[in-house]
Amino acid sequence: MANLQDFDYEEIKSRIMELDYPAFRADQVYDMVLRDKEYSEATNLPKDLIAKLAGKFRARAVEVIGRFKGKDAEKYLFGLEDGNVVEGVYMPHNYGNTLCVSTQAGCRMGCAFCASGIGGLTRNLTSGEILGQVLAANRLNGGTKEKRAVTNIVLMGSGEPLDNYDNVTKFLRQVSAERGLNISQRNISLSTVGLADKIRQLADDGFNVTLTVSLHAPTDEKRNALIPMNRKFPIKEIMDAAKYYFDKTGRRLIFEYSLVEGKNSDAGSAEELSRLLKGLPCHVNLIRLNYVKEKGLRGAKDKDVDNFLAVLEKNKISATLRRSMGNDIEGACGQLRRKFLGEKTGVGADDQA
Ligand code: SAH
Repeated sequence: MANLQDFDYEEIKSRIMELDYPAFRADQVYDMVLRDKEYSEATNLPKDLIAKLAGKFRARAVEVIGRFKGKDAEKYLFGLEDGNVVEGVYMPHNYGNTLCVSTQAGCRMGCAFCASGIGGLTRNLTSGEILGQVLAANRLNGGTKEKRAVTNIVLMGSGEPLDNYDNVTKFLRQVSAERGLNISQRNISLSTVGLADKIRQLADDGFNVTLTVSLHAPTDEKRNALIPMNRKFPIKEIMDAAKYYFDKTGRRLIFEYSLVEGKNSDAGSAEELSRLLKGLPCHVNLIRLNYVKEKGLRGAKDKDVDNFLAVLEKNKISATLRRSMGNDIEGACGQLRRKFLGEKTGVGADDQA
């Protein structure tokens, strides 16, 4: 069954009109949607309208089925109608609060270090299922549609956002619409493995979210070993598309770089990365790889991490070493969902291939 959060205001309105109710009812229904309310909480709506809507649409897209509070982040497990589970992480900062959302259940990119891709892609999330994560987290943290608790969004949960282009872009429109939650695209980061054609399309379609490219290696040889998709879209094509995105949007580019022991964290890689990015309006987010048991790869050693950053600084490449938030609650990278699914099926995630 579809859910009301899949619809934008105009779509809600036309459904209300089809049912022969006046337009102001659409405003009330949309208000209920943005506040993440159940039908039972919509006391201002006529019972017969609720009955008609409830026969066709679920009110909410996701249900919070788990909350795990860590020291600097809170992790949520969101249950979907068909029993699938995705995760999100809420990270309070002094400038606002960021929610990390998932865009697919599973992922088919198959990156060598990532837990989300281990079981492959289960399915795309609908726009409402992505929006629902934001609305649920906003409500849980005392936010309303006027005074948001969630002020920033990163599309860095499970899934490759640009592999679910239509639903993800509909979500971006919904969440940034003035009538919607009205979160500026400037406060939204879309993180991609580097689907170059879709990066261009995103720019052509008029979006101006912050583009984050998961680069993780400075040469095709090193990147091929970590990211299978690099064989389809090698670094040169990704960089050209990223520059195109910058030219169209004026938004500074962000490159993610997870430091993996023995793969991409030596000083030579830092020099190669500096050459690749020289002169580009960009920033590098370094993060030490989170160890994922199934994958066997390890995070770089402290001294290599420090040295990598120092080389970038010496070469005047803007870079910061990100703390890995939520490690204590398996907040990173698909690990909680795997753990949960493992517990549910009685197979420890640790035992799965
Ligand atoms: N598909 C998108 C979103 C992925 S998750 C993308 O590729 O960008 C967000 C980031 O976490 C990506 O940069 C991804 O490469 C990184 N990541 C995945 N597993 C990780 C791990 N175990 N340790 C550190 N970073 C990881």
